[in-house]
Amino acid sequence: MERPYDGHTNCLFCRWIRAGKAVETLDTVAAFDDGFPVTAGHLLIVPLRHTADWLFMTRREISDSETLIRALVEKIRLRDPSVTGFNIGTNIGASAGQTVFHAHIHLIPRRDGDTASPEGGVRGVVDGKRGYHPS
Ligand code: AMP
Ligand code: ZN
Repeated sequence: MERPYDGHTNCLFCRWIRAGKAVETLDTVAAFDDGFPVTAGHLLIVPLRHTADWLFMTRREISDSETLIRALVEKIRLRDPSVTGFNIGTNIGASAGQTVFHAHIHLIPRRDGDTASPEGGVRGVVDGKRGYHPS
């Protein structure tokens, strides 16, 4: 008899999927609250299928992720008018800071004043490189 696919036992996000912790789902993907949020409302968009990182996601999963992210952005904006921006990003490989090896996209709501000098945003993945000063 064929066993139902139950994901990877040792994978945190597979466990979240099995436990029904998703805050939203859309076809091949789901969104979860990040347990250690960078800002209030930080979400992780995760394919239901276990795969290591964004580069292994199918076009369908990437397309569903975009649709879900756009819907979540609308929802967050309606619910919390203090949200005035977002960072959307994915870490690929331990060198780039990935710590959970089930693909995911971070959706991080941003608010004016949540950090003193936000200039450069995702450039901050390398310490000291977020800000820049063209001459
Ligand atoms: P990354 O570092 O891009 O792989 O992102 C993994 C995300 O999962 C981080 O933003 C963490 O806050 C979150 N995370 C990792 N471990 C846990 C955990 N045990 N409970 C809740 N969230 C977690
Ligand atoms: Zn997994």
